[in-house]
Amino acid sequence: MQIHVGTPILDHNETQARRNNQLLKEKNIFMINVMSSPGAGKTTLLEKTIDILKDKIRIAVIEGDLATAQDAERIAEKGVPVVQINTNGGCHLDANMIAKTLGNFDLDNLDLMIIENVGNLVCPAEFNLGEDLRVSLLSTTEGNDKITKYPVIFRQSHLLIVNKIDLVPYTDFSMERLYNDAKLINSALEILETSARTGQGIEEWCAWLEKASKSKV
Ligand code: MG
Ligand code: ZN
Repeated sequence: MQIHVGTPILDHNETQARRNNQLLKEKNIFMINVMSSPGAGKTTLLEKTIDILKDKIRIAVIEGDLATAQDAERIAEKGVPVVQINTNGGCHLDANMIAKTLGNFDLDNLDLMIIENVGNLVCPAEFNLGEDLRVSLLSTTEGNDKITKYPVIFRQSHLLIVNKIDLVPYTDFSMERLYNDAKLINSALEILETSARTGQGIEEWCAWLEKASKSKV
């Protein structure tokens, strides 16, 4: 993992993040930043989300990945604009990368920009990208300890999606413990339960997202 956090870098990032947010506000585009560890199901969730919402909301996606364009190709198959940011080993996205990428989209014809951050529970939380909302995913196969071990990402999120809910019977994951831990770390955190694979909870999540994007927080 790269060492990258320093006060001047984060100050600069905040300035650029404000610019990104300002630009998108002018264009009336709502932006969310989706964060999780690798394999929690971000891309599958986005595929299902696009299927449900793309006829109602004009969606585009920024795909952050350490390497390969596999996830971006999956999103492109859904028929929405997508741009890949390959970080070449970098473990998070920053506001500058987003600023450069926004120029690749037709911002006059978009309502919602979804960023899939690099799979990592640590530093994506420290880099504001200019988003309106932060959504974190935790899959039940990762275990209950992630909430308390990586509190920053969950403290800074507006919504927590507990994914792979269909697999709970095959794990030691405790939903009761999850709700208790999440409340202690962030009492305002909203929680939704999904299985992106089976489709459970996806309608609720899409309704939540549609409402949030229209409220233009
Ligand atoms: Mg992915
Ligand atoms: Zn990083």
